[in-house]
Amino acid sequence: MAQQKPTDRPRKAPTCGGSRSTDRHSLPRLRPRSASHAAKDLNSYTYHGYAGLARDVSFYAEQVLNRAWEALSADYPSLPGEAPVAWLWARTATCPNPACGGETLLATTWWLSKKVGELAWIQPQVEDGRVVLDVVAGQKQGEAPPSPKVGDGVFACVICASPLDGKYLRSEASAGRMGLRITSVAADVDGKRIYRPPTKADSVAAEKGPPKTLPPACHSTPTRWACGSVGTA
Ligand SMILES: [Zn+2]
Repeated sequence: MAQQKPTDRPRKAPTCGGSRSTDRHSLPRLRPRSASHAAKDLNSYTYHGYAGLARDVSFYAEQVLNRAWEALSADYPSLPGEAPVAWLWARTATCPNPACGGETLLATTWWLSKKVGELAWIQPQVEDGRVVLDVVAGQKQGEAPPSPKVGDGVFACVICASPLDGKYLRSEASAGRMGLRITSVAADVDGKRIYRPPTKADSVAAEKGPPKTLPPACHSTPTRWACGSVGTA
């Protein structure tokens, strides 16, 4: 098949993304490649057999991704030079201990990365009765704090260690009193996976909920609209 050329020139796209499959936190790329990059790919080869058709499909799929990103990028903030690949979450619940009553996180693990030489985890601390999260990353040694999950469906309050059992959590969920909290952001910077605490912009975007411009299928679970939870419950 002769060389294929696009009939619709690529529109200007956000900065180039890209992700590596390096650990269990690897996720499909959220951000499109740059349009110029895609067009260069398309026009750089002579195609044989179905290769041209495959390139066409790939090219137009990239156009759909570019336009979706133009519509949604405001809901996915990022820092300069980084391409976020995941916004990580934990469910939250109110501690049943009347002397505490704080918002605790139902995280199943605090680990973010167990890659050798690049260990990373979420470090929870309690300040003025509130759980404050930091991210420890790029460590050669050390380990994440113990998970608050202490049994099958049972969590310990991060603030006071009181148990939140399955029955209590189910009743809180039924009453609509469970919440979600962004815990950290995974991003690619210069081809390297990094983990960082969420910025104010990340938290604000997260609290807005799913963008109204998303197709209905993307609203199926509130934890997944921003790439879902990885490593945390
Ligand atoms: Zn508590």
